[in-house]
Amino acid sequence: MLKFAPILLALLYGLAMYRFSAWRTARQLDEQSTELMDPKLRALNDRMAAALELPRIKVHIYEIDPVNGLAAPDGRIFITRGFYRKFQNGEVTGEELASVIAHELGHVALGHSRRRMIDFSGQNALRTALAMVLSRFIPGFGAMIANALTTLLAARLSRSDEYEADEYAAALLTKSGIGTAPQKSLFQKLEALTKSAGNGTPAWLLSHPKTKERVKAIEALEAKWGVEA
Ligand SMILES: [Zn+2]
Repeated sequence: MLKFAPILLALLYGLAMYRFSAWRTARQLDEQSTELMDPKLRALNDRMAAALELPRIKVHIYEIDPVNGLAAPDGRIFITRGFYRKFQNGEVTGEELASVIAHELGHVALGHSRRRMIDFSGQNALRTALAMVLSRFIPGFGAMIANALTTLLAARLSRSDEYEADEYAAALLTKSGIGTAPQKSLFQKLEALTKSAGNGTPAWLLSHPKTKERVKAIEALEAKWGVEA
């Protein structure tokens, strides 16, 4: 029994870290966000809400600069201030921003957002706990292996989630008459943005699969559904 005590401790530590970081993230979102009130975006959201037979879709602005969309584990949808600014100065259209909201709605509807907390804030906790356990068996390499395993797991989880959320968004955008064109044009814009900005890569792109593959996947859906973009 005593032999397993360190492992148990490591797991408890990991769990505590995870709970703490989830709580901290939720608090940060509460403190640094306001509801999105833009009339044009509200109108687009209302069209998507109607397609989903929901009274309305509530979206929040998260007061940070990196261009990103986020689905919180409690189901709230966030667009960063940086992303909203791109809409305000005309770099991104309302329809394109709506496609991000549709994508995040997909994460919520498909139950990814709860699981994704492991990506966003629990990843370090998992890595630490795993490293503690593995180091006991493989001294010297435990941390390295834990690192590789966590990264691999997170990448696999998020990749399939992204394609599923894209598919959900494509269906919702089609049903609400917005269409999939803005979804695809936004991918291109964000890619161009990363190339010109150099170090200013939007976090939203970093955690997502390659632009070309995402566009191809959407085109395959269009062909399957018989819709025109
Ligand atoms: Zn996503």
